Amino acid sequence: MSINIAIDGPAGAGKSTIAKRVSKELGFIYVDTGAMYRAMALYFLRNGIDKDDESAVNKACENVDISLTYENDVQVVLLNGENVNNFIRTEEVGNMASATSIYPEVRKKLVELQQKLAAQEDVVMDGRDIGTVVLPNAQVKVYLTASSKERAKRRFLELRAKGEQADIEKIEADIIERDKRDMTREISPLKQADDAVLVDSSDMTIDEVVMNIMSLVKKD
Ligand code: C5P
Repeated sequence: MSINIAIDGPAGAGKSTIAKRVSKELGFIYVDTGAMYRAMALYFLRNGIDKDDESAVNKACENVDISLTYENDVQVVLLNGENVNNFIRTEEVGNMASATSIYPEVRKKLVELQQKLAAQEDVVMDGRDIGTVVLPNAQVKVYLTASSKERAKRRFLELRAKGEQADIEKIEADIIERDKRDMTREISPLKQADDAVLVDSSDMTIDEVVMNIMSLVKKD
């Protein structure tokens, strides 16, 4: 049986940084499920689909094929065969992903793919509903969070390091709005699974968080 580690939490909590490190230490595959929702969102944006028009979104889903491949240990998201890694990290795509991930049709497609991957491989999978819906039997579940102020600061520094302009207050407002939408949606809302361990990384370094999670894995 494959070993599954689920890491859920709000936007900017450091899930992908941590999940990448933990997967490397364990020799597991890292699965970034947010990237899948982002690739779907990119398709909707490119095709002028209105985020509020559920039937248009459903119809568009029929034309979208998302798959994952790995190049030098880096996850590559393929949207209808095209590597879209370079296009999905914008705030516009993130907000579209959050707005369209509320629809059952969108989730069904991606959850199936995620469950298939986790059944075949040892994975560290991060997202919003991994411990609650996608992998309810995961051996280790972590709910990783941090204050919205700290998360906005991290995003701001990340964007600045890439040479992009950023407004920290706008980032925090976006984060709060995205959290609210992700936590209050009807289907698969973001919440801590009953058996997940809460890790608040506001005052922790990356190394400390990784060590914390590794100790949970070892205990198991
Ligand atoms: O984590 P990331 O910011 O890349 O996710 C983008 C959006 O995709 C989230 O705001 C959330 O609405 C959605 N998502 C989801 N379920 C997941 C992963 C991401 O609904 N498992």
